[in-house]
Amino acid sequence: MANWKQRLVRHPPRSLASRVFLFASISILASAAVVSAVAIHSIHDQLSRSVERAYPAALARAAEPLRGLLAAGQAELEALAEEPRLAQRRDRDLAPPLARAVGGSKHFAGLAVLAPDGSLRHAIGSTQGMDPEVLARLAVPRTDGPIARSADQRYPGPVIAVPLTGGVPPLGTLVGAFRPSAFQALLVAAQPDEISSLYVISGEGRVIAGSEPPAESRLERLPAAALPEGDRSGVRRYRNAQGHHVIGSATPLGFFDWYLAIEAPFSAAFAPVLSVVTRIFACDLLLILIFGAGAYRLTAAAVRPLEMLSDGARRIAEGQFDLEIPEPDSHDEVGLLSRTFNDMVRQLRRKQNEIHTAHQKLRDRNTELERANEVLSQLSITDGLTKLHNHRFFQDHLTREIKRVSRARESLSMLLIDIDDFKQLNDQRGHAAGDELLAGMARVLVNTVRETDLLARYGGEEFVVLCSDTDRDGAYQLAEKVRCAIAESSFIVDDSMRPTRVTVSIGAAQFKGDRRKFFEASDRALYRAKAAGKDCVVQDDDAVVN
Ligand code: GH3
Ligand code: MG
Ligand code: MG
Repeated sequence: MANWKQRLVRHPPRSLASRVFLFASISILASAAVVSAVAIHSIHDQLSRSVERAYPAALARAAEPLRGLLAAGQAELEALAEEPRLAQRRDRDLAPPLARAVGGSKHFAGLAVLAPDGSLRHAIGSTQGMDPEVLARLAVPRTDGPIARSADQRYPGPVIAVPLTGGVPPLGTLVGAFRPSAFQALLVAAQPDEISSLYVISGEGRVIAGSEPPAESRLERLPAAALPEGDRSGVRRYRNAQGHHVIGSATPLGFFDWYLAIEAPFSAAFAPVLSVVTRIFACDLLLILIFGAGAYRLTAAAVRPLEMLSDGARRIAEGQFDLEIPEPDSHDEVGLLSRTFNDMVRQLRRKQNEIHTAHQKLRDRNTELERANEVLSQLSITDGLTKLHNHRFFQDHLTREIKRVSRARESLSMLLIDIDDFKQLNDQRGHAAGDELLAGMARVLVNTVRETDLLARYGGEEFVVLCSDTDRDGAYQLAEKVRCAIAESSFIVDDSMRPTRVTVSIGAAQFKGDRRKFFEASDRALYRAKAAGKDCVVQDDDAVVN
């Protein structure tokens, strides 16, 4: 069950395998239907022809002795009708001659005498059970010949009536009810086969006698379709009174308005055709199952590699290159396609790996470049000796700060710091000692100024501090703090490990809207600090302080 479900999922009704299965089934069914139709038609034809030969022959075979029986019966009844005793006026005198007549009759099982008005005078034998009204309808006028009536439900057998001729008119009617067994024996003898039944029927279609006993007769009334039209008495196909599908034929008996009919159930008459149809369709079904299943399996096997190819292509589209589809052993188109597909996947995988490696290399190189760039940009704004910001960075920062304070209307101050008598230290202790002092001083300055202030090496042995949001007094206080910190520090500048002390002179100025004048004021203040004896702070145009 699960297997079928899986197959249905794998091969839905619109799949190639299902369509081939359907096509194979329809082809087999269509060809089988054509062959079957031809076979059935010819068998049907043959059967129809044999029925058309057999039925009229059977009717002819039965008609002759029946006519003879009826003629003999009529003659016997007419001879009885001439008996003068039957014309007796007293009813009780009728019993002995009637009983004798029935006892010695070859044909009749019952006799009855009717008065001229149709009323029953006396009945004996099988006529005793007949309805008086039915008997009344049999009354024959004096001048008429014999008449016949089909039986009603209460007496399903052949009945004939003749006028009583043995007395003075009006004398009445003599009714004779034939022995049904005599008719039945003749009809059975004429039956062409076991399935066909013969019937004597009235002009109204009522069954009078049959090859089967009346109680078991399948017919109550033969439909008009079965009655012959004019001279034509061919075989017809119709539904009988019970609604069964039958074939039959009828011919006038030539006696009264009676007919002789033959009838058989259609299914029984054409049983060979039906059997052939059943067998043909059973074979068709078997063929469909065998060849349809074969076609389905073949197509499914052919389609499986295509499904794997399609699945593989989908996975490649999703970026999965680590696959390889099974290659069929066959050397047909599908096998070639599968091998080519795997080659293509291997190529793609190789290229993908190459691209991946190249991409990785590019990423590494990019990271290296970014790092180098960072170092470079740091170097470009850093002084190598003191690790402070360099002159260029200071100038850029000053540009930004000037713009900012101009907008915010904040105060901005600058301290220019120059080491006193540095040249002398250089000369006496060497240039390397001078460098060491510059680095040591940078460390002291970093620890002294605020984080918001910008400390930079201005050039040579000069440093600069740009103080944001700092007015004249603030600048002065910071300058003093710096000067004191340096003066109080001692530096180890060479291998002699001798503490060295230095002082600095500081020129301070406040920004007043002009960059150039800002520098000039700072320079001027520093110059004046040097002139005032060094180790002091001078604010632009102010007195020297130390
Ligand atoms: P003053 O008190 O007037 O400032 O006198 P000074 O000796 O400091 O004179 P000045 O400022 O004119 O001299 C600066 C000296 O600093 C000149 C130069 O040899 C020295 N110098 C400049 N840059 C460096 C440097 O990077 N390393 C060393 N070791 N010396 C430097
Ligand atoms: Mg100097
Ligand atoms: Mg100096």
